[in-house]
Order: sequence, then C-alpha cells, then structure tokens
Amino acid sequence: MRDPAAGPSPLLDAIRIGFGFDSHRIEPGGIMHLGGLSIDCNAHFVGHSDADVLLHAITDALLSAANLPDIGQLFPNNLEENRGRDSAEMLSLAMDQVRETGWELVNLDCVVQLERPKLSPIKKELIERISSVLRTDFHRVSLKGKTGEGTGAIGRGELAEAHCVVLITKSPPLAAT
Ligand SMILES: [Zn+2]
Repeated sequence: MRDPAAGPSPLLDAIRIGFGFDSHRIEPGGIMHLGGLSIDCNAHFVGHSDADVLLHAITDALLSAANLPDIGQLFPNNLEENRGRDSAEMLSLAMDQVRETGWELVNLDCVVQLERPKLSPIKKELIERISSVLRTDFHRVSLKGKTGEGTGAIGRGELAEAHCVVLITKSPPLAAT
C-alpha cells in the first residue's frame, strides 16, 4: 500500500487519454482522402488541407492527450503552405511532437460516420496506413465505420464525422512507481 504522505502516485502522470473530433462537408467528384488513403468514389471532403476527417480527429486526440496545441494552432488554415496539405504528414509531425515530449502511444480507437463509401472492405488497409503513419503496431489501432442510417446530413451523404480516443504513456511506460 502506497504511503499517502508520499503525495500523488507517479503513475497518475504516466498515462493520459485524449479525445479528438472532426467533421467535413462532402461534395461530388474528385478524390476522397480518408485515413491517409486516396479513395476514388466520385466524392471528396471539402477543406483547406486535403480535409482527411479521420486523420484530423486522430491528430487532435494525440495532441490533446499530450497537452500540446491543437491541429488548428499547429497548422493554421489561413496559411498558404497548409492549402491542400497532406494530413498524413501533419499527423506524422504531431506524433513526432508527442514523442518529443516523452509520450508513446498505447492505443487509439476511432469511429467514422460516413454514408458512402462503406468502410468494411477497406478497414484493414485504413488501419495499416494509420499505424504506418504513426510508426506503431497494427494492433494498436482500431476503427469502426458507421452510417447515418439515411437521415440527417450524414445520412444524406453531405457530411462525415470522425471521433477518436487515444491512450498515451510516458516512455518507458510506467517505469516509476
Ligand atoms: Zn478537418
């Protein structure tokens, strides 16, 4: 039993969770950038960068867990250099910053709400791509696709939303007790 007089356990500062959310409008034509993949489905997300809704939610979850500035602060959408920018590159830079502050990813879990295309056929490819960008193991990334059940902006195919929670730990993990 830990002596309460010793103050808070260092374990309390060895793990953090973070939550990220993003949404983007969908318009016909073009290429959809999702999870670092380029999907030819005759629709695209609208945004200043490549508008990858899933990678933006993951980026914000990671930065938030490590108490770092959010994606909008790191990559302002009024800067010309961020126009059409590859979100995989932004996520990779964010992961670098998280690691530079002494944290390592334990796992992340995402939900994407999107009417089309169906994500189940490309789920494995998405997870492989995300884990590759994060330079982490495949099993640390999980992903679920949901539709809007045909209702609301998501159901009409006008909007996509992505949610992500991450768990990070100080590296080496849980060394101090
Ligand atoms: Zn976004």
